[in-house]
Amino acid sequence: MLWQKHDLETVTECLENAKKILTGRYFNHNTHIANTEPLDMGVDSDTLAGWLANYDRDNITIGVVASHSSLQILHGARVEGFRTLGIAVGENRRRFYKAFPGAEPDEWLMLENYREMLDHAEWFRERNVVIIPHGSLVEYLGSTNYRELQVPTFGNRGILHWESSRERQRRWLEAGGCTMPKVLEDPHDIEGPVIVKYAGAKGGRGYFIARNYRDFRRNVDIEEEFTIQEYVLGCRYYLHFFFDPTATDGFQVRGKGSHAGKNMGRLELLSMDRRDESNVDEFYKLGSLRDLREMGVEPSFVVTGNQPVVIRESLLPRAFEMAEGTVAESFELEEGSRGMIGPFCLETIVTDALEFKVFEISARIVAGSNPFVGGSSYSDINEERMSTGRRIARSIRKACEGNHLEDILS
Ligand code: AMP
Repeated sequence: MLWQKHDLETVTECLENAKKILTGRYFNHNTHIANTEPLDMGVDSDTLAGWLANYDRDNITIGVVASHSSLQILHGARVEGFRTLGIAVGENRRRFYKAFPGAEPDEWLMLENYREMLDHAEWFRERNVVIIPHGSLVEYLGSTNYRELQVPTFGNRGILHWESSRERQRRWLEAGGCTMPKVLEDPHDIEGPVIVKYAGAKGGRGYFIARNYRDFRRNVDIEEEFTIQEYVLGCRYYLHFFFDPTATDGFQVRGKGSHAGKNMGRLELLSMDRRDESNVDEFYKLGSLRDLREMGVEPSFVVTGNQPVVIRESLLPRAFEMAEGTVAESFELEEGSRGMIGPFCLETIVTDALEFKVFEISARIVAGSNPFVGGSSYSDINEERMSTGRRIARSIRKACEGNHLEDILS
């Protein structure tokens, strides 16, 4: 048999891959990252207290990067009586907000680049600005810059360290009593459907489904860091909770570990969504996964929108149990942890055995709360027209009135 050049290339590629597998480059190294990554210190409580000492608590401005969930946040801030600030790059972005006068910021900070926010820290503080973080802010600034931003921000920036790696999220969520999809360390062990997720992939871009090792090898980009997770078949629900550590009524989270026996604060369920994901939501119309691959198409998981949902009422107690455990655990993650503050989302799949599998946590407002600017089936029960954005503003308003802003900012 005569060997062609491309046969040799294939053999070389196989050998390269084998080398990468043997040297471990195929596998997820999050544990390694968790142990070696320097823990950037962010803003300490004395620095925060120093800034807030100069803040005029009757004239707080709520500032937000004009993207993600900013319409909801700006609208909520206005309903709660705050002055608002939009932060944007590009005149087109500012102009777009004219379409929504109910959320249009009172003032704009126009930048060439979002990283310039770091240089405007004093400018923000002189205007008593509290920044509300969302996914786009962290993405545009980078997580280290965000942690170092010298401006009071809503929520606990320290939790970002735990949210930012899949391995740390898993330790946190499992310790909090959530069941997560299994992780496969070795792609040779793939026996049923798995989902391969790249680290740092935005909005599910590039994820793929594999049914066996061959599938995996055909699709994987081994230059990227990835995780192989059991593909959980079921219905997805993204549960939007809010934890208020300053409230002493309602559903109180019971502390654990060093906080055992204490009530930690009030847990609320504000809303629930399901993401629209292109093209996986619609690909069944073209046939099976095999049919699609024959057409040269792969399913993808790019978020394009969100739909409001509710779950069976009998699932709600378990939803609260998981969220309570997650919040209680957030105070035990490291010594002196300030725990969760404000909105967070448990991203779940409910199987046909009516069991939740939690595949991710977002420790801040999620864009999935955007359908609920006018309230949700859950939040309306307690107070009509209460969005997550408005709930954040309410929290800031109460803290201003009670003179304890430092309890909810970082
Ligand atoms: P993530 O980036 O982890 O939020 O995942 C993006 C999307 O991939 C989710 O919204 C789900 O549609 C899908 N997904 C993630 N993990 C799993 C899993 N273990 N099983 C099934 N689908 C998943």
